[in-house]
Amino acid sequence: DNPAIADIGVVGLAVMGQNLVLNMNDKGFKVAVFNRTTSKVDEFLNGPAKGTNVLGCHDLKSFVSSLKPPRRVMLMVKAGPVIDAFIEQLVPYLEKGDIIIDGGNSLFNDSDRRTQELRQKGILFIGSGVSGGEEGARHGPSLMPGGNNAAWPAVKPIFQKISAQVDGEPCCDWVGNDGAGHYVKMVHNGIEYGDMQLICEAYQMMREGLGMSGEEIHRVFAEWNEGVLDSYLIEITRDILAKRDENGELLLDHILDTAGQKGTGKWTGMNALDLGIPLTLIGEAVFARCLSSLKDERVTASKVLPAITARFDGDKAEMVNAIRDALYASKIISYAQGYMLMREAAKTYGWQLNYGGIALMWRGGCIIRSQFLGKIRDAFDINPDLQNLLLDDFFIDAITHALPGWRKAVATAVSIGVPVPTFSSALSFYDGYRSERLPANLLQAQRDYFGAHTYERVDKPRGEFFHTNWTGHG
Ligand code: NAP
Repeated sequence: DNPAIADIGVVGLAVMGQNLVLNMNDKGFKVAVFNRTTSKVDEFLNGPAKGTNVLGCHDLKSFVSSLKPPRRVMLMVKAGPVIDAFIEQLVPYLEKGDIIIDGGNSLFNDSDRRTQELRQKGILFIGSGVSGGEEGARHGPSLMPGGNNAAWPAVKPIFQKISAQVDGEPCCDWVGNDGAGHYVKMVHNGIEYGDMQLICEAYQMMREGLGMSGEEIHRVFAEWNEGVLDSYLIEITRDILAKRDENGELLLDHILDTAGQKGTGKWTGMNALDLGIPLTLIGEAVFARCLSSLKDERVTASKVLPAITARFDGDKAEMVNAIRDALYASKIISYAQGYMLMREAAKTYGWQLNYGGIALMWRGGCIIRSQFLGKIRDAFDINPDLQNLLLDDFFIDAITHALPGWRKAVATAVSIGVPVPTFSSALSFYDGYRSERLPANLLQAQRDYFGAHTYERVDKPRGEFFHTNWTGHG
């Protein structure tokens, strides 16, 4: 057995595990490592980890014995049954109060189950979202840990040191109990889908709708990145729009327009349907990818379905500002919807979620990092019980200012036939959300007409139900 000298142990030396270990080592932690294929331990120690304090282990027993109590074991292995298999192998070597952390892309239901199963054995489980890919893992990821609350004090000093830092604050905090960490990572991925689609619509409006060159659009994104839209995704879009291929042509023009989806956006959308939350923007973003993938069908359709002949003939600079407003306002809607979903999930699954902390965790280290997230944190600082982001003063003001441009951009897109599913569905959501009265009165009448479903009346107490004989027939 090894002497217990390591602060934390990491199982899994693929790209994420290796980078996370090097990051921990840089921050002064002594890390023990293990990998199923043990030759990878040696390759790591003789390669990327050469000259570091990393301790390599070739079997789980000596790996666990090298850890200081309470033992902290982090799994960075393939999500799914492999996690359960490692947990099963580790438990016999662990003692009550020891901690297993799963940093893989696990489903939140699995993390719920694992927290509970291990609690019964006295082992503390953490399921942590890890975002930012290999670059994030190496230099500071966004970390979203949840699980057994009792595990957090022993993991916090390590996690908050290795995570990304923004304005001196770590992009890592305790998300909530049980599967909450992996749930919030899932919502994060859904929001990423939304943010990307929003930018794509702004680009298409400028490229197809206004006929702007790549160079012109590049300059617009460069300018936007200096303002309220300042974010990683706007920044890389700016750079993408400057990239030329070997012939000096805009590389972007030569990239096939079909996008795949690995499923995390879909999971978020499916969960929103399960919980009955109108997560329309992320849903549209997933569907936009689905539509893009029907390339052959679209090519056929483009030859037979009439195009719009109307062209944009207004003031371009004004329209570019309107598109910026549409992007900003729609982004606010997307995050408001994401927070509505998390609020409902907390209620449904019995979690105490740290809403302001979640915004801070996303502010750095991950794909959706942006200045904007600081504003969300501020909103929850001012009112921790905030019912909806759209009811916070800062966001009321932001939407009020963006609204005329947003409407103008959507109306223009519709009139010249440029598809803007997320801009327009966000606006419809907004108009629905701010409506005291929606046409669901008619819906209820229809349901009562054909199915005697009954309805409530606006002039009677809620919970009192009425039925009408609509046809006059017996
Ligand atoms: P990965 O390709 O998902 O997994 C490879 C690791 O899992 C290796 O250590 C491998 O061991 C082990 N493994 C696979 N099948 C196994 C089995 N049947 N039994 C035992 N061990 C097995 O690696 P990764 O890309 O570094 O990701 C690690 C985790 O982080 C995953 O859960 C992933 O979803 C998550 N994640 C990835 C990213 C990313 O950008 N890549 C970002 C965030 C989170 P061997 O070497 O022996 O095959």
